[in-house]
Amino acid sequence: MSVIYLDHAASTPLDPQVIAALQAALTGEAAFGNPSATTHVYGRAAAAQIEQARERIAALIAASPREVIFTSGATESDNLAILGIARGRESFGRHLISSRTEHKAVLDACKALAKRGFEVTWLEPQRDGRILPEQVAAALRPTTQLVSLMHANNETGVVQPIEPIAELCRARGVFFHVDAAQSVGKLPLDVSTTPIDLLSLSAHKMYGPKGIGALFVSERVRPWLEPLMWGGGQERGLRPGTLPTHQIVAFGVAAEVARSRWREDARHLEGLVRQFKGAMEGLPGGRFNDPLLKAMDGETMDAEAIDDGRLPGLVSLSLEGVEGESLLAELPQLALSSGAACDSATGEPSYVLRAQGVPRELAQSTLRVSFGRGNTAEEAEAAARQICAAVVRLRNEDAPGQPPGGPWAEGSAGSLAEGARVRCFLRLTTDGRLEALQFRLAACPHTREVARRLEARVAAGPCSPESLGKPDDWAREATVPVTKLGRLLAVEDALRRALGSVAAARSRTIEP
Ligand SMILES: *Cc1c(COP(=O)(O)O)cnc(C)c1O
Repeated sequence: MSVIYLDHAASTPLDPQVIAALQAALTGEAAFGNPSATTHVYGRAAAAQIEQARERIAALIAASPREVIFTSGATESDNLAILGIARGRESFGRHLISSRTEHKAVLDACKALAKRGFEVTWLEPQRDGRILPEQVAAALRPTTQLVSLMHANNETGVVQPIEPIAELCRARGVFFHVDAAQSVGKLPLDVSTTPIDLLSLSAHKMYGPKGIGALFVSERVRPWLEPLMWGGGQERGLRPGTLPTHQIVAFGVAAEVARSRWREDARHLEGLVRQFKGAMEGLPGGRFNDPLLKAMDGETMDAEAIDDGRLPGLVSLSLEGVEGESLLAELPQLALSSGAACDSATGEPSYVLRAQGVPRELAQSTLRVSFGRGNTAEEAEAAARQICAAVVRLRNEDAPGQPPGGPWAEGSAGSLAEGARVRCFLRLTTDGRLEALQFRLAACPHTREVARRLEARVAAGPCSPESLGKPDDWAREATVPVTKLGRLLAVEDALRRALGSVAAARSRTIEP
């Protein structure tokens, strides 16, 4: 496919060795048995393969295999950790600490507990996206049972200082959960030296299959973790259900591959990031949302500072003066995401970036570029080139000043922070019909489409302003989703204001 895949933070392709292992596990004679059926050789073969995978995954984080519990993914691991400890320790206290920039799986698990009377302290990250150990210390209460913070952020790549926070929690007798879905296999993680109690992993973020993950449960917290489901007692009773042998085997191979090459991967990924940032240099009005990159609004990007407090291969960049959805639509040859994958659906600007102090207007035009093992330097350069060209194209649609062929009556409405900024330019015939209409705007593809249709209507021949219709009509004709109707109001307002300015000018010339 000619589309360059730059969305590895959402999911990674399967490593070739993982595919081979998956196929072998699916078609192999030996291991189709139920791994719990240890009365015969089929079941025992499956169980042996699972135990080998468990050892490989444990080795990646320096855990004991007994402490690795298989789940369906990091979402389930996060839920099991948070709900499980909350329920298991409820009688000792009902207070939890987390942060505003967590993955939805953590945010919503904590919110569900809050609805049931638990108290949650939401830590606010610093401007660089990090949570300081002092913030955690200040939030601890005698009733605190769990602190849940992520290792590497899935939107910005910011890496939290989990070691001092883990030490602090251990010293204060509070359990510490880490969502490490983004960082396992990419950054070193050692639960034998860092006192982490629970750690979430996901196979499909590390070149393994979807639908399989794990929760590291230290021996220390195990007695306090209440399962979410009940059944056949698998996974030490913490996560019952027949284990998916093939997925687990593949996950194990992915872990083994990651262990042998994460350093090489990190070097490769940082090379790609440097290349990409270098090729973005010179585009004004953008910023990288990295801890140490200083390029601020309106300044040219600075490719020099590469920071080690960041997930290798992930670049978050915000581009001034363009609308995020249109920017993605202008990049059909790049597979990347705006903000978090979860949020692309709601169209709400990333809560993570907003919590990090990125203004709403910039947060809405943020791209997350996440490179992977398979990307090349040429792809990084091509991506940067395409993004720069798309930004320039979109900014031209919203160029300042009047369009040529003026003078025009002008009206403007909306703002990018609200989702659409529209300027309308028009001329009327002496009998009040529209003879020319042009829009300059920064808005979503739907709003742009509506503007283009209105322009075409007038270009086809003078018509009365009323005949252009209302936002409801435009939405129907251009099949605009109801959630976007608000943006069309900006088009209507700009049009009305331009018409109003003609009327005002005419009444002034008639008055004397
Ligand atoms: C992807 C991701 C998850 C969810 O993992 P699934 O295995 O897809 O359920 C949770 N947390 C973070 C930080 C992630 O990046």
